[in-house]
Amino acid sequence: MFTLEECRQADTRDPLGPLKQRFSLPDGVIYLDGNSLGVLPNTARARSTEVIDQEWGVGLIRSWNTANWFELPSRLGNKLGQLLGAHEDEVVITDTTSLNLFKALAAALRIQQETRPQRRVIVSERDNFPTDLYMIQGMIDFLQQGYELRLIDDELPLEAALDEDVAVLLLSHVNYRTGALYDMAAVTAQAHQYGVLTIWDLAHAAGAVPVDLNGADADFAVGCTYKYLNGGPGSPAFIWVSQRHQDRFWQPLSGWWGHQRPFDMATEYQPATGIRRFLCGTQPILSMSLVECGLDVALEADMDQLRAKSLALTDLFIALVEERCKGHPLTLVTPRDHQKRGSHVSFRHPEGFAVMQALIARGVIGDYREPEVLRFGITPLYLGYADVWNAVDILKDILDSRSWDKPEFKERTSVT
Ligand SMILES: *Cc1c(COP(=O)(O)O)cnc(C)c1O
Repeated sequence: MFTLEECRQADTRDPLGPLKQRFSLPDGVIYLDGNSLGVLPNTARARSTEVIDQEWGVGLIRSWNTANWFELPSRLGNKLGQLLGAHEDEVVITDTTSLNLFKALAAALRIQQETRPQRRVIVSERDNFPTDLYMIQGMIDFLQQGYELRLIDDELPLEAALDEDVAVLLLSHVNYRTGALYDMAAVTAQAHQYGVLTIWDLAHAAGAVPVDLNGADADFAVGCTYKYLNGGPGSPAFIWVSQRHQDRFWQPLSGWWGHQRPFDMATEYQPATGIRRFLCGTQPILSMSLVECGLDVALEADMDQLRAKSLALTDLFIALVEERCKGHPLTLVTPRDHQKRGSHVSFRHPEGFAVMQALIARGVIGDYREPEVLRFGITPLYLGYADVWNAVDILKDILDSRSWDKPEFKERTSVT
C-alpha cells in the first residue's frame, strides 16, 4: 500500500502536476467536488474585469462586434469540441443542460416522426440524473402524442429495453451518483441497430474522460461547463449535434439567435444552417466569457495523461479507503473495472450524510447524494496523489473517532 511519502514522490513525477498552479484553491481545503462545481481558474479574475470594465463599460453595444460577443457561443463551442471528438461547427455553448436536453429531444423525436413515425417510446435510465427524466416527462406531456418513458434498471437491462418501438435513447455517459461509465460507441451501435437515435448527457464526462462523439457515431449530446470544465457557477451549457442531423429539423425554441440573419428582423423564422440554429435568445456574455478560462487549461492537458491520472487517483482512493477504513460500513458503488469508471468515486455509508458534513468541517469537500452515498470527485487537473492520501487520512480519523456522530452534522438544513 502507498505511503504518504510515496504519494508525494508520485506527485513530483506527475506530468500534469504543474497545472494545479493554474487554479486558485483555498488553503486548508482538499476539493473533491469538482464534478459538481469546478474551481476558479486564475485567469478568470482578470478576464472578468476585462469583460466588465472594457467590453461592457467602454465598448458598450459595439462589443457585440468589436469583442466578438456574437460569435462567443460558436467560438467557444469549437474550442470545447476538441475535447469531445467534434468537428468544427458542431458545438455551441448556450443555455442550460436542461434546456439543451429539450432541444435535442425535440429534434430527435421530430426526425423520427419523419422517418419512423410509429415509434412512441423514449428509453432512459431509472438512475439517470433527475433533470434528464423530468425533461422527458415534460416533453411527453407537452406533445400529447402517446409517448411513453421506458426506464432501464436492474430488472430491465438495456438489451431488453431496445426494440423497434423506441424512438430515442437518452443516457448519461458517466452516472452522476455511481460514476459508472458507458461505452459510448458500443451502446450507440446497439441503439442504431434498432433505428434508435441517441442523446448523450456529458455533464460528468466532458473534461473528465475521453469522449469521441463522431468516432462513436453519436447523434446528439449535451452537457455542463461548470463541472469538470471549471466554467464557474451557473456557466452556460453546451449542445452537440452530428452534422448529419443539424439541418434536418429546426428545434422548437426557435428564438432570434437561431435565425439565419437575426438582424434582418424578418417576420418569418428561417433557421440558421448548422449548429447555430440550436441557439435561442441573447446569451449570458459575462458568464460565457469566463468559460474560456477553464477550457484553456483543459486543452493544455493531454487527454491520455488526464485519463491515466484519473484512473490512478481513483484506484488509489478506493484502495486506501478499503484498507485504512476497514471495519467501517463502507460499500463501494463505483465500478472497479477501468473501462466502466468515470472520474469520481462513491461509497455508501449508513450515516453518509453526517460523515460528509464532518469531512467538510475538516476541509475535505465532497458531497452527499441520496441514498447514503458519499461522492468524491477526483479531478486530475488540480488534485494530486498526496491530496488523495490526506483526504482518506481525515476520513479514517472521522470514522475511527465517530466524530460524525454529532447533532450539527445530522441536521439537514442546506440546499445541496
Ligand atoms: C449536473 C447535471 C445536469 C445539470 O443540468 P442543469 O440544467 O445545468 O442544471 C444535467 N444532467 C446531468 C447528468 C448532470 O449531472
